[in-house]
Amino acid sequence: MTNKDLANAIFPDITKTIADYENMYPERNLPEGAKVTRFAPSPTGYMHLGGFYQAIIDYVLAKNSNGLFYLRIEDTDTKREVKEAVDLIYESLNHYNIIPDESEYNGEIKGSYGPYFQSERKEIYHTFIKYLIEIGRAYPCFCTKEELDELRKHQEERKFRTGYYGRYAKCRVLPIDEQIKKIQNGEEYVIRFKSEGNFDLKFKTEDLVKGTLELSQNDEDFVIMKSSDKLPTYHFAHIVDDYLMHTTHVVRGEEWLSSLPKHLELFKAFGFKAPKYVHTPLLVKKDGNSVRKISKRKDPEASMAYYKDKGYPTEAVIEALMTIINSNYEEWHTQNPDKKFYEFVYSPKKMSSSGAFFDLDKLDNISRNIISKMTKDEVYDNLLNWANEYNKEFADIISEDIDYTKSILNIEREQKKPRKDYAYYSDIENQIWYMFPELFDKHELSYEWGKINDLNDIKNIVNTYFNDYYSSSDDKDTWFNKVKELSEKLGYCTDMKAYKENPDNYKGSVADVSTVIRVAITTKSMTPDLYEILKLLSTNELNKRINLIK
Ligand code: GLU
Repeated sequence: MTNKDLANAIFPDITKTIADYENMYPERNLPEGAKVTRFAPSPTGYMHLGGFYQAIIDYVLAKNSNGLFYLRIEDTDTKREVKEAVDLIYESLNHYNIIPDESEYNGEIKGSYGPYFQSERKEIYHTFIKYLIEIGRAYPCFCTKEELDELRKHQEERKFRTGYYGRYAKCRVLPIDEQIKKIQNGEEYVIRFKSEGNFDLKFKTEDLVKGTLELSQNDEDFVIMKSSDKLPTYHFAHIVDDYLMHTTHVVRGEEWLSSLPKHLELFKAFGFKAPKYVHTPLLVKKDGNSVRKISKRKDPEASMAYYKDKGYPTEAVIEALMTIINSNYEEWHTQNPDKKFYEFVYSPKKMSSSGAFFDLDKLDNISRNIISKMTKDEVYDNLLNWANEYNKEFADIISEDIDYTKSILNIEREQKKPRKDYAYYSDIENQIWYMFPELFDKHELSYEWGKINDLNDIKNIVNTYFNDYYSSSDDKDTWFNKVKELSEKLGYCTDMKAYKENPDNYKGSVADVSTVIRVAITTKSMTPDLYEILKLLSTNELNKRINLIK
């Protein structure tokens, strides 16, 4: 009995060889230096910011080099319904216009290196596993869960390294005829890789982010095929896929670094050249005085849904991630405002190798800046798109009179130093509701009076102003002068310098008077340009609001 007999007993139906697959998936026809990258998420039903950040790196690496970026769904491990989870992955990438060059979605296949779902590649994996068995580098293991638990306990009690290796790997020495007999008897088994490594020996390897690493050799006979569904484990599947799909750069989270020796030993066992690895640092955040990993359980911003729900412009999220991917991105972007983010030449070496600090305040700043530079038409369209999905009532209101809404959005916009007040689209209603009579009527009003807060003084200012001074046809200078005249008439200081020197000598200043007018009309003490606001609201609406001040 030989290894070949064992391989045939396990995979009697596998007739193809590795060479057959090599012929089916030949070297890609790409220009010199082109990088082939992949985003390879497991369909968990959750799109983590950390995964998306890796996808951006994949995308940029591929685009930078006239290469290719593909999407592979790693669904060998999932017991749940995959369809919705895959939709989520696809839609998240799509939302940011990160479109894979190759993928499989809704039955539509783009690219000829598929299938792009691991669950559809079983026969390929079996062919590769069969080969390893034939050359004596893989074997069936019949150990039960109880036996493995017992082994772990034994190792833990003696403070030995845990795992199935060396003398603990008892199934590696079972005679072949016994192995075949057990299989024919229908005994359950997994397939394990037969390691030739020595944990006490170190080897050197390059990671493009971390630099040269010195790691212990793998000596574990790890599982490469599970018993239940005969699907491969991640360790095994990614080797075969990245080999056949000709991936040049594997970008993945640094949590995989510890299993790198396993992967490299597998590549070696097949005689394949390993791809280059880019192990990305964890995304971290400040939490009080400490810095910790951004976690799905604790942080809503760990989910990509957070950014879409809140209505961040996609460019803002990408820019925030790009600046942590390479800190010189910001400077490059300022110098090349018209270039696309993926034209930036990403350098893995320049990544922080400890932790990548993601800061929501920074994102808000980036986003405010981006929204402020949009034209009124752009911001309107984006707002409406967002509202149609997340706030239908507001979508209807802003669609009633589109020009009116655009005029509101245009206050202090489309100018050299635009106002930077909106960080995301869901925040806009909070900031402009008072411009819409139907929202104003429904709102529970709470007036933010400032220094002048005596109701008689307030009424006096508001009534005198609107009866004797305000005219909707005034230009801005006239308007401003009238507020000054009013202030003078009512005994408020109009000389701000004098006022600041001796504020107690006056009952208030022209600034306080204009605050009264602002609050009377909007309820808020901070708003965009009051002149513009007054001009946009109808006389009826102004009168209604003046009469509310009682
Ligand atoms: N399926 C793995 C994960 O979701 C991917 C790791 C890789 O990119 O190789 O973590």
